[in-house]
Amino acid sequence: MRTFENTVCSFCGSLCDDIVLEVEDNVITKARGGCAISRRKFLSAIDSEAPLVDGKEVKFDEAINAAVEILAKARHPLIYGLSSTSSEAQAAAVKLGETLGASVDSTSSVCHGPGTVAKQLVGLPTCTLGEVKNRADVVVFWGCNPVEAHPRHFSRYSVQAKGLLREQGRRDRKVIAVDVRRTATARIADIFLQVAPNEDFQVLTALRAVINGNELREETFGGISPEEIQDVCDVLQSAEYGVFFFGMGLTMTQGTHHNVRQALSLVRDLNRKTAFGVIPMRGHGNVAGTETVLAWQTGYPFGINFSRGYPRYSPGEFTVTDLLSRREVDAALIVASDPAATLPARSANYLGEIPTIVIDPYYSATAKLARVFLPSAPVGVAASGTVYRMDQVPLPLRKVIDSKYPSDHDILLAIDKGVTACSASKEALSMIL
Ligand code: SF4
Repeated sequence: MRTFENTVCSFCGSLCDDIVLEVEDNVITKARGGCAISRRKFLSAIDSEAPLVDGKEVKFDEAINAAVEILAKARHPLIYGLSSTSSEAQAAAVKLGETLGASVDSTSSVCHGPGTVAKQLVGLPTCTLGEVKNRADVVVFWGCNPVEAHPRHFSRYSVQAKGLLREQGRRDRKVIAVDVRRTATARIADIFLQVAPNEDFQVLTALRAVINGNELREETFGGISPEEIQDVCDVLQSAEYGVFFFGMGLTMTQGTHHNVRQALSLVRDLNRKTAFGVIPMRGHGNVAGTETVLAWQTGYPFGINFSRGYPRYSPGEFTVTDLLSRREVDAALIVASDPAATLPARSANYLGEIPTIVIDPYYSATAKLARVFLPSAPVGVAASGTVYRMDQVPLPLRKVIDSKYPSDHDILLAIDKGVTACSASKEALSMIL
C-alpha cells in the first residue's frame, strides 16, 4: 500500500491541497480530508468505456485517426470545454486550434465569462484565499452558494478558517449573503439580502450610491429597503479587510457583465475607505486556468477564433452557444466537459448533427452523441499536471494510479501531429498535381 499526503483535489475551484490518498493494487482505497464530493470522485476513479467510433469499440490509434480525419476535413471546427483538465492540456488545445484555424472556447463563456469581460473593463482588485483566511473580517457571498458547491471553502478559507489576524475564525468575521433565495449559505450569514430576481444591478447601484455619500430616495432597490442598504454599507465600510465573492447568480442573470462591472466598481469604491478584495467563485477545478492559459497564449481568455491565422476575440460570435445555435461549425472537439448536459437544447442537439469528438475520462452525455469517443486518464488521479485555484494560484496535480489510457494532453498532441501530417501531405500532393 502507498500513501499520498497533501494531494490536490481538483473537483471544484477551491482545489483543497490537503487530501490523503491510500492506494493498493492500483486502486484508491481511502481518501481522507476531502468533502463528500471529493471522496466519491476519488474512490470511483476507474477507467471508463473503451475508445469508440460510430458506437463501435476500436483500438485507441483507430479512434485517434478517425478524430484526425474529421478535424483535417472540417472548414470551421470548434474546440470547446477544457475547464476540468490540466493547463498543459489547455495549452495543447490552443496549439491544435491554431493548426486547424478553429474557434476555441471554454466553459467560461457559459459561467463566469461576463465577469471576465467586466474585469477587462474595470480591473480586478483581487487577493489570494490565503489573505482571506488570515485577514478578512467581512466576507460577502453574492449569487453563490459555497456551502453546497464548494463544501470546504468556509472551513479552509473564508468563514470558520482561523488565520493570523482572525484567530477566532467565525467569531472574528461578519458574513453577508445576497441571493434570490435563502440558500444554505444565506442561512449561515449574519446579514442576508434577498434580492428580487434579475435586480442585482439596482442593489449594487444603491450600495455604491451610499458608499459615495449620496442619499437614497426610492422605497426599495431590487426588493431591498434603504435601511437594509445602509446597514450593509456600514458593515462594508467598517471592515478592516473585506472580501467580495461572486458567482453565477451575478454573472448569468439579467445584466450579466454590467452586474459584475458594478460589483467590481463597488469594491474599487470601498478601497478608497478600507481594504477590500474580490474573487470570482469559480466552479470547475481548472476553469481559472483555462482563462489564464488562453490569455497568455493568445491574448484573450475565451471566445477565440484562429480562421485568419491569428487569434480574434469576440464573445457572442466565437462563443459556444452562439456558434452551435447558428450552426456555424462543421465539427466539434469537446475536451473534459459535457455540453450536451449543460448547454441550451438547440445548441446541444446540433452537436449530434455534426461529427463530434469527445476526449473525457468519463462516458458523458456528450460522449453518447459523439462520433468518436477517446477515453483519457483522469487528471489529478491517473495523470499529473497544473491547475489554477479560483484566486489564480497554480497548484500541481499528482498521478497516484495508472490508467490504460493516455492523458488529455498526450491525446491532443497526437491529434495535432496527425492533422499537421495530413495537411503536409495534402500540400505536397497539390504541388505534384
Ligand atoms: S471543496 Fe472542492 S476542492 Fe475541496 S475537497 Fe471538496 S470538491 Fe475537492
